[in-house]
Amino acid sequence: MLTTVKAGPYTIRGVSVGGVYTSLHVPELDCLFDAGIVARTLAGASNLLVSHGHADHVGALPAIFGVRGLLGQARPRLFLPEQIREPLQTTFEHLSQIQRYPLEADWVGVKPGDEHQLRRDLWLRAFRTHHTVPSVGYQLFRKVQKLRSEYRELPGKEIAERRNAGEDLFQTVEHLELAYATDTLIRVLDTSPSLLKTRVLILECSFIDERKSLAASRAGCHIHLDEILERASDFENEHVVLMHFSQISSPDEVHQTLARRCPKSLWERLVLFAPEGGAWPG
Ligand SMILES: [Zn+2]
Ligand SMILES: [Zn+2]
Repeated sequence: MLTTVKAGPYTIRGVSVGGVYTSLHVPELDCLFDAGIVARTLAGASNLLVSHGHADHVGALPAIFGVRGLLGQARPRLFLPEQIREPLQTTFEHLSQIQRYPLEADWVGVKPGDEHQLRRDLWLRAFRTHHTVPSVGYQLFRKVQKLRSEYRELPGKEIAERRNAGEDLFQTVEHLELAYATDTLIRVLDTSPSLLKTRVLILECSFIDERKSLAASRAGCHIHLDEILERASDFENEHVVLMHFSQISSPDEVHQTLARRCPKSLWERLVLFAPEGGAWPG
């Protein structure tokens, strides 16, 4: 049922079929991106990151909370666009009443630019995506202390002495580790250009050929492969994980079409989040 791929140091496990359901678990980051489908082993992440309120991205949230309750797991942090926090929270209060069991989370509404610390060495930043309803993407990064360039030639002993004397020798730099952008126009790469420099970029690619025209794809605020190919040389990522493929194409067609249409420079860094042949899950 689940697809698992590796992208650099990260494992991405879950299911993604555009318009049907998307839930992607990255265990190394303890994050679940979107909650369109529940599976026993997807529910354990401490951080749930919801991109927007369409059912294929939030429909399984109550079920995920149910599995967590069953496993006795602590309440998760639930990040979601600020505009949908209150109505979804109210919905959950009603669901809790129906179940006579509290569906508890730390609800964190986010706006583009907001930053939150997930753990000692890991941060999240929300960025703007462009969809038909309120939506955001998420970029995860580490903050690393780096010696300022003017001090790099100094011997270690002198660095230690200067540091002990209170001199400010270090600067904080961000290592952009992974970003998640779904249900958006390709314009997201212009409004958040750092996505192109993030180590692993998980990006939607709902449509891959003429069975869905570019105009129809844009009208639904989705990305078409044609638009990714136009920008093929812009991607500086170690890996670009394409997902949210429409079921118009079979998994086989996704692999074959992408292999045929992508230039080598892009193909080398692409990871396709689709089963190896067969049918889409479910
Ligand atoms: Zn979707
Ligand atoms: Zn959507």
